[in-house]
Amino acid sequence: MPTLMWFRSDLRVADNTALWHARRDASSENASVVAVYTITPEQWAAHDMAPVKADLILRTLRELSAELATLNIPLRIITVPRFADVPSALLKLAREVRARAVFFNKEYEINEVRRDEAMTEALANEEISTHAFDDQTVVPPGVLRTGEGRWYTVFTPFKKCWIKHLESEGIPEVLPKPKKQEPIKIKSDEVPSRIKGFEPWPRPELWPAGERAAMKRLSRFAERSIASYKDQRDFPAIDGTSTLSHHLSIGSISPRQCLHAALEANRNKLDGPSPGATHWISELVWREFYRHLMAAYPRLCMGRAFKPETERLRWRDDPEGFDAWRDGRTGVPIVDAAMRALLHTGWMHNRLRMIVAMYLTKDLLIDWHLGERHFMQHLVDGDLAQNNGGWQWSASTGTDAAPYFRIFNPISQSRKFDADGTFIRRWVPELADLDNEMIHDPSELPLLLRSTLKYPAPIVDRAMVKERVMQAFQAIKG
Ligand SMILES: Cc1cc2nc3c(=O)[nH]c(=O)nc-3n(C[C@H](O)[C@H](O)[C@H](O)COP(=O)(O)OP(=O)(O)OC[C@H]3O[C@@H](n4cnc5c(N)ncnc54)[C@H](O)[C@@H]3O)c2cc1C
Repeated sequence: MPTLMWFRSDLRVADNTALWHARRDASSENASVVAVYTITPEQWAAHDMAPVKADLILRTLRELSAELATLNIPLRIITVPRFADVPSALLKLAREVRARAVFFNKEYEINEVRRDEAMTEALANEEISTHAFDDQTVVPPGVLRTGEGRWYTVFTPFKKCWIKHLESEGIPEVLPKPKKQEPIKIKSDEVPSRIKGFEPWPRPELWPAGERAAMKRLSRFAERSIASYKDQRDFPAIDGTSTLSHHLSIGSISPRQCLHAALEANRNKLDGPSPGATHWISELVWREFYRHLMAAYPRLCMGRAFKPETERLRWRDDPEGFDAWRDGRTGVPIVDAAMRALLHTGWMHNRLRMIVAMYLTKDLLIDWHLGERHFMQHLVDGDLAQNNGGWQWSASTGTDAAPYFRIFNPISQSRKFDADGTFIRRWVPELADLDNEMIHDPSELPLLLRSTLKYPAPIVDRAMVKERVMQAFQAIKG
């Protein structure tokens, strides 16, 4: 009797904990593994999944199916509207292939947890066992606790504990690809070429799919850029970061594979001689931290602020300001360049994510939920935990350890991180001829010259921004 391996956000064959155990368990029983993936278009739309991400998933499934075929594991595809429809659909498949067990890697978001509970119950009624594994992080959510047994809520102590834990317990190994099984009669389903409600993404070449592409990108980053990561990671015009977030978000690479590559560049130390590799590990820990928070505080999945008192903040109702931000027409070149790049590529550099999120929530004083949603609807790496964490950090409703609230000046950020305006020139061509000084703030140009540019004046007066946001935060104090 076969074992079902249910793929979700772990679309790879190598270092896949549930797949590895499924194969081992099946072979000890002289049985085989059948893989399954569930497409839930209405649920994906309700979760604001971007078409670019849906497209990446389909292309990755094709790669996965081909990888699994080399192991004689067929990949079945189930399409049902929502998570609520998944338990009965899986049960039907389990009956059809006469499966006795379902293996899967855990997802920690609340709707996913509820779906899995319902599925486990439905299968248990028919004596089909379920086996869930922690795989999405190097250290599973819930393992690291403060001295008082509480979940960490601040990054730096979390990171210290993460390092201490791995130094004492050992770093988890990367699991090999499972062994090939004997051919079986069950055939793979064709991966659909499109999903209802999701437009095909016009530029798939930007995001090569599958675990081979992911490993290639990781190797290239480890060889060429990890050493200089600390110095180059903040400059959007430089290809100085790994651009692996989309692979991590759908699991075409594992965090352990990433960590081992960084350790290799860091003499096997988590906090070692290479500042670049050490810093990159720290970013992987941010990812783990936000996953850990999501598991600890399910309310974060429900749109609630991490700091409850900030739910009283009086955000401005400004649909025109929001539209200008969304379309890259705010009159602040670095913000507009970043927002236009997002719409065109489906990705944004981390420094720019912080700048535009601060701009929306502090300069325009617009509710972070609107920005969070727009990001999810357009990011190839859209991921509830990281996106929510990043937005709440930027809006000062989240876990930032800075006292009170933090605000960036987008023009100073632009001068610092895009000094010669290379990034702005690429995405805001109407400013391409300005010099390296004026390109950051064309509102400083003499009026006559400014009127010749086809570029909007700033939609908000920076002189009053700080005062306005200070007052808003002051009003909720106590
Ligand atoms: C407002 C806002 C929204 C964000 N939304 C997302 C999102 O939806 N999905 C997403 O994956 N990341 C998100 N991030 C985090 C970060 O911007 C991206 O992970 C990063 O830009 C991806 O580029 P990279 O793969 O080259 O990262 P690298 O710099 O090479 O870092 C390696 C990996 O570490 C993780 N990482 C890096 N920086 C962060 C961070 N600040 N927080 C959490 N994890 C991090 C990512 O998995 C990343 O792939 C957001 C950040 C902000 C400020």
